[in-house]
Amino acid sequence: MRETWNTVERLVEWLDAESTVSPEMARLLRVLKISEEAGEVAEAIHGVTGSNPRKGDSHTWEDVEAELCDVILTGMVALKTITPNAAEAFERRLAHVAERSLGHRPPGRGGKEAGSA
Ligand SMILES: [Mg+2]
Repeated sequence: MRETWNTVERLVEWLDAESTVSPEMARLLRVLKISEEAGEVAEAIHGVTGSNPRKGDSHTWEDVEAELCDVILTGMVALKTITPNAAEAFERRLAHVAERSLGHRPPGRGGKEAGSA
């Protein structure tokens, strides 16, 4: 995970170097970018299901996978942009959500207690 966050940091440095807007505007735009990428996930889902007769089957599940990765990546870039401690913030939040949802259940059991239906 450290290598991933190092790559995210390099991307943020690159974006900062190429930015033509104020740092405050860059922060807002990077958060908004998450919505743009989420929209691309929705577009890919519509493309997989062929729900738009004009476009037909325009996407694959691999496209959905790539767009979901874009959402995750843009979220990481936005987080790293607003805090230098992005990795720690993410780990804290993940631990919080896991504790809230999984409690003290041991890993690898699908969240169900042995013998439960
Ligand atoms: Mg995308």
